Parts: sequence; C-alpha cells; structure tokens
Amino acid sequence: MNSPLPASNYRGRFAPSPTGPLHFGSLVAALASCLDARSQGGAWLLRMEDVDAPRNVPGAAEAILTCLEAHGFAWDGPVLWQSTRLEAYQAALEQLLAEGKAYPCACSRKEIAAASSRPALDGGLLYPGSCRAGLPPGRSPRAWRLQVDSERVSFEDRIQGRQSQDLARDVGDFVLFRADGQFAYQLAVVVDDAFQGINQVVRGADLLDSTPRQLFLQQQLGYPRPVYAHLPVATNGAGEKLSKQTRAPALEVARAAANLVEALRFLGQAPPDELARATVAEVWAWARRHWQFAAIAPGRGRVWPPA
Ligand code: GLU
Repeated sequence: MNSPLPASNYRGRFAPSPTGPLHFGSLVAALASCLDARSQGGAWLLRMEDVDAPRNVPGAAEAILTCLEAHGFAWDGPVLWQSTRLEAYQAALEQLLAEGKAYPCACSRKEIAAASSRPALDGGLLYPGSCRAGLPPGRSPRAWRLQVDSERVSFEDRIQGRQSQDLARDVGDFVLFRADGQFAYQLAVVVDDAFQGINQVVRGADLLDSTPRQLFLQQQLGYPRPVYAHLPVATNGAGEKLSKQTRAPALEVARAAANLVEALRFLGQAPPDELARATVAEVWAWARRHWQFAAIAPGRGRVWPPA
C-alpha cells in the first residue's frame, strides 16, 4: 500500500460558475488543480461561484457537483457558495471605501464611451476616472470602483512564466460593485480565496489577465498572495475557448473514465490507451501515481482535440 503523503499547508481549489454544465475545459481545470494539490499532500476545496445572480442557470450548480462526483472528485469540507458570502464582500468594499481606495461612480456606459480614450484589455472601455475626485453634483452612485495606480503588477506564473501588467494603462479603475446591484467577480474571488486560506491557484489561462487585478486587490485588502498556475485552455479550430458560447458539449457522465484520460492527455500526461476502458477509480489511481505538473506545456490555448 502507498504510504500517505505528508500533510502540507498547500490549499488549492476549483471554483466553477454555475452558468451551464461542466464541459471538457472545466474538467481540465478541476483535474489539474486537484492532482496538483493531492500530489503535494494538500487540501482541495470547492467553491461555487454563484455571485453573478443574473448569469446563474437554475440547476447548473447541482449538475456540476453531480458531474464532478461521477468523475471521481472528492473535495475537502463543504462547498462554499458565494451567494452566502455577500456580507463578507460588503465588509471588504466598506474597508476599501473607508481607506479611500475605492469610490462611488455615477457614470453610465454612454458617458464612459464618450469620455474614454481607449479600450481596456478585456475589450471594454478604459474608465477615464471621471468620478475619482467625487460624484458630480446631483448624481447618485451606480457602481463602486477600485482606484488603481500605474505601478506595474508582476508575478511569476508556474506555467506561463513572468507576467506583468500596468493596471492604470491596461485596465483602469475597475468595478467592485456593479450598476446592476451585484458584487463583481474580481472582489468575490479575492475575498473568498483569502477566507478559504487558498495559497495555490490552478485555473484556466482565460483568467491570466484578471490576475494582476486580483493581486492588486489582495494588496489593498492586506491579504496574502497565492501562487498562480494558469493552464492552457482548450480551444476549437478557430481558436475560441470551449465554453457555452462556443457550444462546448456537456461532459457525458457515462464516459467519465474516458473524459478523465482525455483531460490527462490535454495536460501533457501520458496515460496508456487501455486506461480509457478502465474504471474511474483506476484512472485516478494512475493519475495520482504519475502526475507530472512539469509536463503541462505553456501557452494560453491549445486546439482540442488535436488535428
Ligand atoms: N468561476 C470562474 C470560472 O468559472 C473561475 C474563477 C477562478 O478560478 O478564479 O471561470
């Protein structure tokens, strides 16, 4: 029998958004984050990112949990639901406001479009800072923003190498609480990673450009900085990320073992062909014995299945 791995202080997580069923891309992130944690004797937590109420699809969260279980995932402790954490996000926002790091903003989309000089990294418009010095007379707040500065935010990604971003130039003062009354993903993820003691984040490279915002926010809130690893994301032949928008198929539970084997291949591992016909437990046993983080090739995206 294998002797148990030494306990470590590694704490990782998988944080799906219940906007649809799990697809191959989410399986890759779940599997890599879990195997990386377990191979280092660490904890692996599950967080349901249902903070963006308008985007939640009824039944999707439960379907995700069932699908993960059918694929043999076992997480530590109860699932953390972001919808139960609104008071914590409010407290973080109030802290930032009290310290003069965040401010209310009255601008409509139209006003931002009229005053903005260039696009932001995410394809939106760079906020021109109109309400930084205070709300114009007679206007009420629509959103709350975090004030950024022009110091570069840099970090060393375990897969993608050195990353660096100038938040003032590339992103602008970003939204913490949205005009539609929802806390922004950036705030929720940072507050929850700190709350759950997450010190290792393994997730898709579609979030690589968000990471500097999260690092800056952690610093503003006085939180520790986790280590990050951004996995290449599976794309179709046109280079589009597999997602609901690109009609990525939901994972078939009946093919769980084969799905896991395919995800291992995507992650640069070399499972033997016959493993696709093994049981889910056998695939996990192989994966835990042979997991090699270093085999994951850098790059933001990879066409899957390969031509
Ligand atoms: N909930 C996000 C998503 O499904 C992931 C957040 C994260 O891993 O930080 O894209």
